[in-house]
Amino acid sequence: MRVSIPKNRLTNEHLIVYNKPKKVYIPLISGNDTNITILVKKGEYVYKGSIVGKRKGDFRIPIHSSVSGTVLDFEERTCSNGTKVKCVVIENDFKEKIEQKLTVKRSINKYTKEEFIERLMECGIIGLGGAGFPTYVKYEPKNIKTLIVNAVECEPYITADDALAKQKCEEILEAIDAILEINKIDQAIIAIKKENTELKQVFDNFIGTYLKIKLKLVPNVYPMGWERTLIKEVLNKDYDKYPIEEGIVVNNISTIYAIYEALKYNKPLIERIVTFSGENIEDKRNVLVKIGTDAKEVLEQLKLKEDSIIVAGGPMMGNKVDDLVISANLNCVLALNNNIDIPSICLKCGKCVEVCPAKLSPVLIMKTKYKKEKDIKKFKKLHPEKCIECGLCSYICPANLLVRERVRDAKNLVRGDK
Ligand code: SF4
Ligand code: SF4
Repeated sequence: MRVSIPKNRLTNEHLIVYNKPKKVYIPLISGNDTNITILVKKGEYVYKGSIVGKRKGDFRIPIHSSVSGTVLDFEERTCSNGTKVKCVVIENDFKEKIEQKLTVKRSINKYTKEEFIERLMECGIIGLGGAGFPTYVKYEPKNIKTLIVNAVECEPYITADDALAKQKCEEILEAIDAILEINKIDQAIIAIKKENTELKQVFDNFIGTYLKIKLKLVPNVYPMGWERTLIKEVLNKDYDKYPIEEGIVVNNISTIYAIYEALKYNKPLIERIVTFSGENIEDKRNVLVKIGTDAKEVLEQLKLKEDSIIVAGGPMMGNKVDDLVISANLNCVLALNNNIDIPSICLKCGKCVEVCPAKLSPVLIMKTKYKKEKDIKKFKKLHPEKCIECGLCSYICPANLLVRERVRDAKNLVRGDK
């Protein structure tokens, strides 16, 4: 069962820039991994683009400073996943001094595959659609046949990708063309929601000379932006664990633009567009903002009303937070009314089971109790690790239960995250 989500495009799509934070709090997190080696010390001067930390383990993704200035301290701040994460606090000297080490190519399709992968890794490019998976890893295999560019944005309120794609359509097409050539990929398909006729028109105006790039209109249902749903809709293909089994790579459209900037200007991932919306923000906007900016500063500028609930992310997948710094995988900040639906008891209606795109039984996972170590076996049988945290179970639940949160707890338990 797929769920139609009510339209709620409250945001004024006009893009503004907020680039003057006095301090930034660069989160030492990559995806959900906080296993990061810190590479700076208190009092050290850093440039815009200096590496402040590096992910340990298999994915060697660096984390960069988004300003030039002095490292003041290390502090814990709340990130997009709703948890406290250690951050490097940097005082901005507003000089925007850049550390430039690598050379750039005049034409972005002149990179070899090895240089391309190296550049994506050096620039810390990760998926900007939410999961934050290192992008270079997706391009390592040699058998890629199709690139799907995800421009779907299926959660209400969020228009960050849309705003970027309308402004940077030509650059995005140039980047897709280069990605196809460098990686010897047969075709690219840009997936756009059927109702988004404006964005389709923008692409139609420029796509003519790119014969290997096509547009595909997809239904406005949730979670159409999820890789598995999107691949089924666009190519009618299923896969077991990863899309590459079918020769497919999926990149969010903002990630494609980040790749463009990495190839063209050697620009690391130090800023992104975030939708600031919800009924408690007077001036709803898409804002180009530096990674590590305190979201409160931007909210105040956009005239945040008192007694707001702040959500990091969209209404379906987002997390309620008290404070928040902008991280690379955060696409939306919502300020909502303080009217919370009071949860009652489970009505055993089974609606959460009907809607779950991962084919789980959220109600059963929610009701399973963990008291001792051996109880983990009960959870493992229900496979909470397959949950994509889409939030549909909570959205549909007539008892207003926080079903997704309970499934996520079980997922973390099974994966040994806590
Ligand atoms: S949040 Fe998880 S359990 Fe709930 S519907 Fe989505 S995938 Fe299923
Ligand atoms: S949707 Fe809510 S009330 Fe219905 S079975 Fe699931 S948890 Fe219970």
